[in-house]
Amino acid sequence: MQRLSTKEYKNNFVNTFDGDESGDLQPRQTPEVLYSKAVPTTVSEPALLAWSDDLARELGVEKPKSGEDIDILAGNHITPTMYPYAACYAGHQFGNWAGQLGDGRAITLGEWENENGNFWELQLKGAGPTPYSRRADGRAVLRSSVREYLMSEAMHYLGVPTTRALSLVTTGDQVLRDMFYNGNPAYEQGAIVMRVAPGFLRFGNFEMLASRKETDHLKKLTDWTIERFYPHIQGDNKVLDWFKEVVERTAALMVEWMRVGFVHGVMNTDNMSVLGLTIDYGPFSFLDDYDLNFTPNTTDLPGRRYAFGNQAGIARWNLRCLASAIAPLFPETDELIKVLQAYDAVFLKKYHNMMAAKLGLDGVKEGDTALFGRFEETLSAVKPDMTIFYQLLMELPAGVAGEQEVLNHFAGSFYDEPEGTEREAFYSLIKAYQERISANTCSREEALDKMKKANPRFILRNYLLHQAIEELEKGKDELFVKLQEAIKDPYSKNHDEFFAKRPSWATKKAGCSMLSCSS
Ligand code: AMP
Ligand code: MG
Repeated sequence: MQRLSTKEYKNNFVNTFDGDESGDLQPRQTPEVLYSKAVPTTVSEPALLAWSDDLARELGVEKPKSGEDIDILAGNHITPTMYPYAACYAGHQFGNWAGQLGDGRAITLGEWENENGNFWELQLKGAGPTPYSRRADGRAVLRSSVREYLMSEAMHYLGVPTTRALSLVTTGDQVLRDMFYNGNPAYEQGAIVMRVAPGFLRFGNFEMLASRKETDHLKKLTDWTIERFYPHIQGDNKVLDWFKEVVERTAALMVEWMRVGFVHGVMNTDNMSVLGLTIDYGPFSFLDDYDLNFTPNTTDLPGRRYAFGNQAGIARWNLRCLASAIAPLFPETDELIKVLQAYDAVFLKKYHNMMAAKLGLDGVKEGDTALFGRFEETLSAVKPDMTIFYQLLMELPAGVAGEQEVLNHFAGSFYDEPEGTEREAFYSLIKAYQERISANTCSREEALDKMKKANPRFILRNYLLHQAIEELEKGKDELFVKLQEAIKDPYSKNHDEFFAKRPSWATKKAGCSMLSCSS
């Protein structure tokens, strides 16, 4: 185990690429560089609120005991081997080219190499302004920091690729936020999360260089990305093979989000990781009731571009932006376009396998894709609680036959008991499912085993986060600590005190279903 303050940090990105070394934090355009030096701005009273023991063990980081180590997590102390910087990237936001964005409130301190020779980038979120902060303050509030800290770790334990969170500190400073963008700004507690990932490169890092026509930089960044994060890719077609793998990983990520019912909420190209990780936790949500049109982001209304059921298509749209960005690296782009066009097939294959696992099927057989379609359609109409529905599906006894009997079995998942045609559709779906299951060639135990691994029982619902945050703001951490434990084994029954539908008081309450981007 090593201490944060005595560790020798590596700075491979900074040493490889051109950067603005001035340390000037004034907002500005930064042509011809891939990053700008940005020293965190000190905070008044850092206090460690949460620490991820499992992640720390993986990294070989000792839990901070001294002020100096906590100061690192708050941006108050920079060690001699750290080189703090903000990355320069661009992006398409809500379908429109937004030009330069960059790390406006994220500062990378350095790269941590663990005992196995794996590198992890350590990044503070909310550590003060950078040249990319534009008109904002570079800070983060407790509310959004708790959400990112818990949710990124929750996704990890669910088995979904994601950036991680090592620590959460409160800063002792107040941050002004207009939470609802309605002209009522209020002060909130400031906080900083230390995020950890092999890398935080986004589609937007490549789009930035392409838009500035800095083809040498673009080539260098692409080669570096492949060498560092995709070392198994070798040969003459490296860039194409790499893009193919980004397509694969992105499709896999979308399928994983659909498996657990995760809605990101802001799938702009600057929030898309080239490593296929879930990145930038903002107005995200798990589905409570199954609704393909659900978007948790108030800024995403009325278009619902980033609704649950649109995510796979938006990922394709974003991949097209990445393909356009790297197109200058190809003498002709036919092959690149073919790889992009293969996305739908890649996605569908993964999606079908995922659905087969969720439903406990012995594979994807003839007629199964139609059955998956019926599940999607009927669940969208009936809108049961997604997580509870799949748990009850696992518990469905083979003998349940009559309509009322079936409806009673699933009663605990309904927000509204289905009636009329919806009731009929639901019943006939379950009958079709029972028939399909009875044709399984694998044992019931094997099928159940598959289902248990594919269907989480505990999900970090927004209303739970909301309650935990309200408590923390009053200085109580009971629920927060419970949630920190519950996220660690989401497939077990060990945390069944949280196995419940979203309560009705939370249905329309801000922060419980819809959220703003303000953070
Ligand atoms: P997001 O939608 O959170 O991914 O943010 C989009 C852009 O706005 C990124 O460039 C962020 O760094 C920047 N940004 C968001 N919030 C802040 C803030 N409080 N201070 C500075 N920059 C911010
Ligand atoms: Mg972002």
